[in-house]
Amino acid sequence: MSHIRSGCKTDYGKGRLLFAGEAAGFLNPMGEGISAGMESGNAAAHAITEHFDEPVCVLDDYQQSTKMLKTYMERQWNFVAGLSDTFSEMKLPL
Ligand SMILES: Cc1cc2nc3c(=O)[nH]c(=O)nc-3n(C[C@H](O)[C@H](O)[C@H](O)COP(=O)(O)OP(=O)(O)OC[C@H]3O[C@@H](n4cnc5c(N)ncnc54)[C@H](O)[C@@H]3O)c2cc1C
Repeated sequence: MSHIRSGCKTDYGKGRLLFAGEAAGFLNPMGEGISAGMESGNAAAHAITEHFDEPVCVLDDYQQSTKMLKTYMERQWNFVAGLSDTFSEMKLPL
């Protein structure tokens, strides 16, 4: 838990290197991280194939297409934060 309490930060990668799943910060504090890994991995692959000849657009496409996933993760973090005072530090700033 100490590793996931530092805030729901996302790191999509840099240049031609993309991160997916937990490495990208799609870390669900309620568990069930396999779907987030698959969804973000699929989005990364799609962004690459879509902009294969224009790699500068890949990162932007990837960020856009995982917006809902990121929002979902943030909701999960706030949900866990509200479960008990023990987790209140996980509440994300508005
Ligand atoms: C006990 C347990 C039960 C779980 N049960 C469920 C469940 O029922 N349902 C569910 O959805 N989720 C479950 N999860 C969570 C789920 O396993 C993770 O959310 C999911 O595996 C994350 O996928 P990922 O691809 O992001 O990371 P990972 O599955 O951790 O994959 C990362 C991979 O990168 C490799 N790696 C690391 N560093 C390097 C490196 N430097 N070079 C090359 N490779 C490297 C690792 O060896 C690993 O294979 C469970 C987790 C645990 C621990």
